[in-house]
Amino acid sequence: MAGTEARPTEIFIVSGVPMENVLLLKTHFGFDQFRPLQEEIIGCVMAQRDAFVLMPTGAGKSLCFQLPALKMPGVTLVISPLIALMKDQVDALQADGIPAEFINSTLTRAEIDRIQTEARRGKIKILYAAPERLAMPEFQLFLQEINVSLIAIDESHCISEWGHDFRPDYRNLKMLRNIFPQVPVMALTATATQKVREDIIDQLSLDKAQIFISSFNRPNLSYAVLPKKNSYDHLINIFREHRNEAAIIYCFSRKDTEHLAADLRQEGFKALPYHAGLESEARRTNQEKFIRDEAQIIVATIAFGMGIDKPDVRWVIHYHLPKSIEGYYQETGRAGRDGLPSRCMLFYSAADAIKQQYFIRQIEDEAERKNAYGKLDQMVDYCEIATCRRYYLLRYFGEDYQHENCDGCDICFTPKADFDATIISQKIMSAIIRTGQRFLTNYIIDVLLGAKNKKILERGHHDLSVYGIVDDFSKEDLRRIISQLVSKKLIIKSGDEYPILQLSPRGNEFLKQREKIQLPKFKSIGKISQPSEAVEAGYDQGLFEQLRLWRKTTADEKGVPPYVIFGDLTLRQMAFYLPQSEENFSRISGVGDEKLNQYGKILTAVIQAYAQEHNLSEQEVPVKRSARPNRSNRLGSTHRETKKLVLQKMSIEEMASTRGLAAGTIAAHIEKLLSAGETIDIDYLRPPVEQFETIQAAFQKSGGAALSPVWEMLGERFSYEELRIARLFIKS
Ligand code: ADP
Ligand code: MG
Repeated sequence: MAGTEARPTEIFIVSGVPMENVLLLKTHFGFDQFRPLQEEIIGCVMAQRDAFVLMPTGAGKSLCFQLPALKMPGVTLVISPLIALMKDQVDALQADGIPAEFINSTLTRAEIDRIQTEARRGKIKILYAAPERLAMPEFQLFLQEINVSLIAIDESHCISEWGHDFRPDYRNLKMLRNIFPQVPVMALTATATQKVREDIIDQLSLDKAQIFISSFNRPNLSYAVLPKKNSYDHLINIFREHRNEAAIIYCFSRKDTEHLAADLRQEGFKALPYHAGLESEARRTNQEKFIRDEAQIIVATIAFGMGIDKPDVRWVIHYHLPKSIEGYYQETGRAGRDGLPSRCMLFYSAADAIKQQYFIRQIEDEAERKNAYGKLDQMVDYCEIATCRRYYLLRYFGEDYQHENCDGCDICFTPKADFDATIISQKIMSAIIRTGQRFLTNYIIDVLLGAKNKKILERGHHDLSVYGIVDDFSKEDLRRIISQLVSKKLIIKSGDEYPILQLSPRGNEFLKQREKIQLPKFKSIGKISQPSEAVEAGYDQGLFEQLRLWRKTTADEKGVPPYVIFGDLTLRQMAFYLPQSEENFSRISGVGDEKLNQYGKILTAVIQAYAQEHNLSEQEVPVKRSARPNRSNRLGSTHRETKKLVLQKMSIEEMASTRGLAAGTIAAHIEKLLSAGETIDIDYLRPPVEQFETIQAAFQKSGGAALSPVWEMLGERFSYEELRIARLFIKS
């Protein structure tokens, strides 16, 4: 492995983390800072304790076992379900100069022998294996001959039948506990449901494990729902503008994927289909081409995605309506693992929902059918709401996301404007009443629009005064207005399979009192605005393209995917700062010692030539540095105890009662933790908007940060600890 002489020495100061970890992070992986929870998780397993890690895709779970593996005396055994993924991860580790190998059925006997011999000699730090290996007596014997220091079970939801990817072979894992009772086990997953979580903990006997759960928000992803009208033209426009950006398009059927991929190829794009009906060879090569940046677009059914870790997917587009929010969130999660801005778009039409209902109707088991209707209904809600999409998604997974504007969905991008919806709401609600409160949305809409529907005529509803009363709104508009009235609880939907519309008591009151109502105007969708992409703006596109080409050639020579050489973020930083000295180059995120040695000379030369040719000058790459810990900032064990509870997302009251301390003391601990530079996510403690705004205004008026003037000013309406917590969210 490479030496560390070339490194500037003053980078690695982050308070609260053993320096050594930060050093390893930079020298081996090229990163300057830990992501949320990584350092705590590493600390936990280094203390020989089991860990259960639940973090969304792209959060950086692998590092949580890869870094400890470097520090531990023996081998870290990683169980991973997917053979293709295993190879990519091992390639990436080897590219960073870390001795890693995998053992699975793709290797020859001789290769396995070689790896096992090296492992016995202590030459391997990280060993990946597929779960079915564990059932082989020969492999069990081998494991007992090597010194296993840590066991990491990746994609650990595969052990649960409640999950979406149950693998019977994962049941073999229980045995590992028997063979290695003293070795710490960590289970990692991005699957959030409570049932699966409990099952994993139960089956792997992780009852003493420390549990780490991070927010499921993916701030670098933006979400948009677009009407299906002209969706194809829209796609073409996107890809014309973003020629080099990898995209996954999810379609409903196998045929759809093939047709759409063929159409896109006709337009000159490199698009390939992927679905379970393709020959395994075709599936493999199509996936491989996508991963190796030879195909820009993969048009797939939901069969695609589990096996890929491609970090630079910039677009996940749902061309058809997904069946459930769980599935949708998982699929969109494949965008932007590298943390760079990426988009999730869904093309929605009510007709798609009807098509899905048709399939659900074929489900024989009643409970299952009902469940499927419920899930689909929530998916439709997501598409039709006029409020923040991110909020809806996170709340679905039980998280309370309290931001007025997420800055990353079509709704929040659109300036808010309301329209007076009093009359149209009255018309809709009257139609529901006049037809007897027993019809579905579509029927009510047909009545309002005066459709020549046979059923309407049979029932005599064409004689009602509400028949044909609407001519200023389309069918789609009416659907949206009805969903908003449902979300405002004026109308209720009841029944699973065919939910009928009825008025709630509040709805009746609304009509009787002739109340007024404003609803958010729905935008004329069609153009999605872009998330603020400050990072994007500055880098030199020409150099970036040149570096990409270099990366592709280099990757091909080595037989690895391009992202294993360098990620997009790393290349963009190079194209921004134009580093030409070894030292400046070494500071780029993603450049560790091994890569500095391998590519430093050649790339600084490439950059220098480009800079000269275009008359550009080098800029110093800033060094990320957290506050230097000083004496007054030093944390005591009591702060750390509180920190643990914050990581479990407890409320102030819960922490106070758990610790037997006053709420004010807990609030003071949190302040201290933050001022000492600890990375804790306290967003969940953010006060309700109104309360916060009142307090913020009071601080501004008082002109300082002191609590007591504000407390007095607000007439003691809030407690000191409420003020303390609110103060943390006020930007000075
Ligand atoms: P997960 O398994 O949680 O989906 P990965 O472990 O595959 O996520 O990591 C996703 C990406 O984040 C990878 O490209 C990885 O190199 C990168 N990454 C992980 N930790 C850091 C860090 N501390 N700083 C920068 N990038 C990181
Ligand atoms: Mg992973």
